Amino acid sequence: MNRPATGSPQGASRRSLGRGFSELGGRSLRQYLGQSDPIDSWHPEGDQAAATRRRYGAIAIASGKGGTGKTTVAANLATLLGGSDLRVLLIDADFGLANLHFLLGLQPKTSLARLLLGGLGAREVAMEGPKGVRVIPGCSGVERMANLDDGQMHTLARALAEAEEGTDIVLLDTAAGLARQNLALLRASAMVLVVTTPDIPAMTDAYGLIKLLSRSSTSIPVGLLVNRARNRTEAEEVALRLTSLSEKFLGRKPEPLGWVPEDSSFSRRAAEGKPLVLADPQSAAAGALKSVADKLLSSVPMIPQARLEERYFDHLCEVLARGEPERV
Ligand code: ADP
Ligand code: MG
Repeated sequence: MNRPATGSPQGASRRSLGRGFSELGGRSLRQYLGQSDPIDSWHPEGDQAAATRRRYGAIAIASGKGGTGKTTVAANLATLLGGSDLRVLLIDADFGLANLHFLLGLQPKTSLARLLLGGLGAREVAMEGPKGVRVIPGCSGVERMANLDDGQMHTLARALAEAEEGTDIVLLDTAAGLARQNLALLRASAMVLVVTTPDIPAMTDAYGLIKLLSRSSTSIPVGLLVNRARNRTEAEEVALRLTSLSEKFLGRKPEPLGWVPEDSSFSRRAAEGKPLVLADPQSAAAGALKSVADKLLSSVPMIPQARLEERYFDHLCEVLARGEPERV
């Protein structure tokens, strides 16, 4: 498969998130979040910008069990990456039970389902979130979107490919579990970030997902994030258990990319539609997410200069066309 090759994970091309995402620059938070502004980033870049362009492979944020914090992590990581001058495309790929837009304070005017009916393009569906993040919101409570067949997925992928134009990195907030359409989304990405909590059922299901990914025909790098840990010791214990189990029984292990503490502010900020990293930038949770974002950028394969135009959605179409035999 024509997957983005793994470039050097370290080096000068890597960006750091050091610049102050905490500063509002005299603007109201709403202005700062840019919620009412039209998307102004949808223009072809100049030759000079193209020559120095760096692109990262797509990252799918996933879990075995639901409710581990995928959407929370996706919204906050995308905001941090957007704040570091990366042009981010954030896709709510939990197609049937989408709620990412809610956490970002966005109110979609149209629905992803309409892309399938035709007549609408990605431009009509995309919205501008915090820090210039281009957001593709999903549908909430739409059964047929939760059960797309390969043909419908292909149609959606072709329609959404346009949204990748001019972006540096794609983040996908995926549904929990092993549904066929969800696995295709994961297998098409350059890296899967598995989010687990310290709960035994969440850890068990995280292992199940890591196992399944390790048996895919293409080897996908897997990162591990422990969310809602009480402290560093607990997070490290969870990461150690999962990495050592994986190494012993699967012959490969996920890369621990950090942890996020339990913090009740997450649900409060979600209700307000403000990412915690913007609303509470000095909190321990925001600091932890910043560290995860830095590690993530150091780990995700970069798209080689010679293939800068390749798109996540092209990979998705390849994965759908290839299918994946069940392996036990
Ligand atoms: P998922 O997308 O995996 O289903 P969500 O991101 O929707 O999970 O999170 C599920 C619930 O857990 C939400 O109420 C969210 O506010 C809460 N949550 C997520 N991360 C944390 C955290 N680190 N501390 C406290 N609550 C959290
Ligand atoms: Mg979610």
